[in-house]
Amino acid sequence: MYPAAFEYHAPTSVQDALGLLGRLGDDAKLLAGGHSLVPMMKLRLAQPKHLIDLRKVPGLSGIKEDGGAIVIGAMTTHWQMESSPVLKQKWPILSETASIVGDPAVRNVGTIGGSLAHADPAADQPATMIALGIEVVCQGPNGRRTVKVDDWFQGLMSTALRENELLVEIRVPAWPAGTGGAYLKFPHPASRFAVVGVGAVVTLDGEGKCTKAGVGVTGAGTKAVRARGVEAGLLGKKLDAATIEAAAAKAHEGVDVQADLQGSVEYKSHLCRVFAKRAITEAARRARG
Ligand SMILES: Cc1cc2nc3c(=O)[nH]c(=O)nc-3n(C[C@H](O)[C@H](O)[C@H](O)COP(=O)(O)OP(=O)(O)OC[C@H]3O[C@@H](n4cnc5c(N)ncnc54)[C@H](O)[C@@H]3O)c2cc1C
Repeated sequence: MYPAAFEYHAPTSVQDALGLLGRLGDDAKLLAGGHSLVPMMKLRLAQPKHLIDLRKVPGLSGIKEDGGAIVIGAMTTHWQMESSPVLKQKWPILSETASIVGDPAVRNVGTIGGSLAHADPAADQPATMIALGIEVVCQGPNGRRTVKVDDWFQGLMSTALRENELLVEIRVPAWPAGTGGAYLKFPHPASRFAVVGVGAVVTLDGEGKCTKAGVGVTGAGTKAVRARGVEAGLLGKKLDAATIEAAAAKAHEGVDVQADLQGSVEYKSHLCRVFAKRAITEAARRARG
């Protein structure tokens, strides 16, 4: 099906894009890679009268270090994250998560900003972003503001982004030495979206005890969530198999697990536990170095 007719705008600065957003209001949609928005437009689930294309806006793409943090521009593609030497060296979980989004065609065009703004409940990036405790930077007419990832995902395809704002970048905080992370998913056989995906990041001290933990779960519910029960089950303990298994058993808690064509509530809850166990086990292995 063809999308409904729309007017196309190609601003060349963030200010121009914000100006268009302010002027066109509800009638406008921002366009990044278009790999989520355009399919919705073709199905007429979205019928914006105006599209504001961000691809000609400079300064929204790229990966850089800022002190201990890593800053990733909203228009950075999954492929740029997958292939980034900085991410591979500093935060392999970020390049690995990006590397299993969809297929090469999707990764070459889809962006991190689009993924986080769209907040598809089965998207991969949100679980890893929650595990890492990132901050989302939004820019509106009155300047920038920062939203903690725990406040970002508010419901089914709903976020803390305001209508007059762009998501401009994400900030990944530094973690202590002795940290490892992993993202693993049970992929949908056709789309590769996560039926269930779990991102885990753990820090171990010299005795192997867990001093810091972040675990995010995507796919199973209407939004990605932090698995607080799992994190509590890891903190202060040596991450042996029994401890990881007991903590991972809580992975479905706090997730509003939805039954759908991919599985029942029981099955998806089971997947949450299994993938939490696997992701934490791998993260701990990497943390040990
Ligand atoms: C066949 C297929 C398979 C896929 N498989 C997966 C998968 O396995 N895992 C996965 O996670 N994703 C998957 N995706 C989704 C893909 O990753 C999308 O590219 C991504 O979710 C959205 O990014 P985008 O740049 O294409 O955003 P767009 O489609 O351009 O935009 C999506 C939404 O975000 C808004 N938006 C975009 N950028 C900004 C911004 N900077 N500020 C504010 N709002 C913004 C838009 O207005 C729109 O509402 C798949 C997509 C397809 C088509």
